[in-house]
Amino acid sequence: SLEVSGIELAFGRNKVLRGVDLAVPAGRTACVIGPSGSGKSTLLRAVNRLLEPDAGDVKLGGESVLRSDPDVLRRRIGMVFQHFNLFPHKSVLDNITLPLRKIKKLGTEAAQAAAREQLELVGLAHKATARPGNLSGGQQQRVAIARALAMKPEVMLFDEATSALDPELVKGVLALMADLAGAGMTMVVVTHEMGFAREVADQVAFMDQGVVVESGVPDQIFGAAESPRLRQFLSQVL
Ligand code: ATP
Ligand code: MG
Repeated sequence: SLEVSGIELAFGRNKVLRGVDLAVPAGRTACVIGPSGSGKSTLLRAVNRLLEPDAGDVKLGGESVLRSDPDVLRRRIGMVFQHFNLFPHKSVLDNITLPLRKIKKLGTEAAQAAAREQLELVGLAHKATARPGNLSGGQQQRVAIARALAMKPEVMLFDEATSALDPELVKGVLALMADLAGAGMTMVVVTHEMGFAREVADQVAFMDQGVVVESGVPDQIFGAAESPRLRQFLSQVL
């Protein structure tokens, strides 16, 4: 399980997170929706300690991780970004083995075996020796997902994983994410894909101006929203 409570974070005087709470039980998927600039990416980065929150707590499996070693934390939380962040001059396989060797301290053979297993899972075993630049955007994103999964994380965070993709490539990546959710991964998915949120999420959280304004099951959020800000947001995006 992932429990985020009271997270606050400011950039200078700009208070971007003003006390965010989000609880995702083990094996469940939460989607985070909300307008541009509401703090969604900042929230994921604070959970993963790419940014240090000013206040609040993050618990994994009931245990506070805000003061643990960031490297240890990144073994337990996988993150996938909008722009895949793959190393362009390394092969697909090396992109996946690198964090396994550096962070998990696996030997070359164990790292390669783990990497090949994940590539198989995302349907890209045949691309192991390719350079990322020779793959489609959708394939690159599947490599990025494989790289995160290879670490065997307890939780996966997705930040607009399909926003940079050509429309015809979006479906494949969303299907992979839906499979992961179905397989019992604990996930937080920041997305503009309302169809995905409606169909795959166990819970949807609407963020605006640095707080979760409303959260609930998809039927509640998309069918019976209480907050006027959420209603207005949905009227613009649906
Ligand atoms: P989008 O849907 O456009 O991705 P978002 O909800 O992910 O938006 P954030 O990227 O979390 O929004 O940004 C929230 C606020 O924090 C914005 O006002 C942004 O300008 C500010 N911000 C984000 N990153 C930084 C940074 N590194 N330094 C200063 N301000 C930042
Ligand atoms: Mg963002």
